[in-house]
Amino acid sequence: MKERKLEIVAFLIFCNLIALSIFLGIRKEQDLEVVFFDVGQGDSALIRTEEGKNILIDGGPGQKLLPHLNDELPFWDRDIDLIILTHAHADHLSGLVEVLERFNVKKVLWNKQEHDSVLYRQWEQSIENVKSKQAYKGQRIDLGEAYLDVLYPPKDYDSELGLNENSVINRLVHEEGAILFTGDAYEAQEIQLMEWEESCFDEDFNWCKVMILPSEILKAGHHGSSTSSNYEFIERVDPEIAVISAGKDNRYGHPHEETLETFNSLGVSMHKTFKEGNFRVFFD
Ligand SMILES: [Zn+2]
Repeated sequence: MKERKLEIVAFLIFCNLIALSIFLGIRKEQDLEVVFFDVGQGDSALIRTEEGKNILIDGGPGQKLLPHLNDELPFWDRDIDLIILTHAHADHLSGLVEVLERFNVKKVLWNKQEHDSVLYRQWEQSIENVKSKQAYKGQRIDLGEAYLDVLYPPKDYDSELGLNENSVINRLVHEEGAILFTGDAYEAQEIQLMEWEESCFDEDFNWCKVMILPSEILKAGHHGSSTSSNYEFIERVDPEIAVISAGKDNRYGHPHEETLETFNSLGVSMHKTFKEGNFRVFFD
């Protein structure tokens, strides 16, 4: 009899857990949600659409991403609908290799620029059976209430350039606002984007539909390094908030003083992951 009672109690607890998870799942799926994870010295962001699709942009260094994903996603949701890798440096790639092992990843979008590293070879192996597409400017990914545009690099990018310089740059657009994800792109790429945007004032190239820079939120390029966040570019993007994703006391000294000054003088608030942790945005 006692055993029977225990069984009933265990069953009721189980039902409650299921109900709670469903409740949490539904609550999240009402809005488009974007979380920039605090992954230390690296980048990783998760987009969850209203329809419950999961999109990851970069995976951060080491093994920092999985605990975040386990916090964010209900336990039955092991689908990552799309991974966007901005470039193959470890501080953007490591966590993705782990995700490919443990989640059902449906598609990968990246610049396909090769890199000589053990990690890169692991990545190549782990995407062998995943639909893998080259990312290039002009692409638009439909996310229902929102879309994701690829602004950079061009299809025939210069593979002699470093990985940072060929970072995939994309912009999430929702009627409530836009977020610009810049990877580790440098000033030269920021200036190129401004030139392309300007050329679209006069001519209507087929990729012009994506070449719009103003965005409410900017993921500051290259962890707030002075290689990036050109003053005119920040003025053009005109963000309310810049997310600076960097590690505490990192060896590169990111974010650099010049970048902080640029944001301060243009009245842009900053969210620093190493100080304030994850940064979360809802669009409804
Ligand atoms: Zn980086």
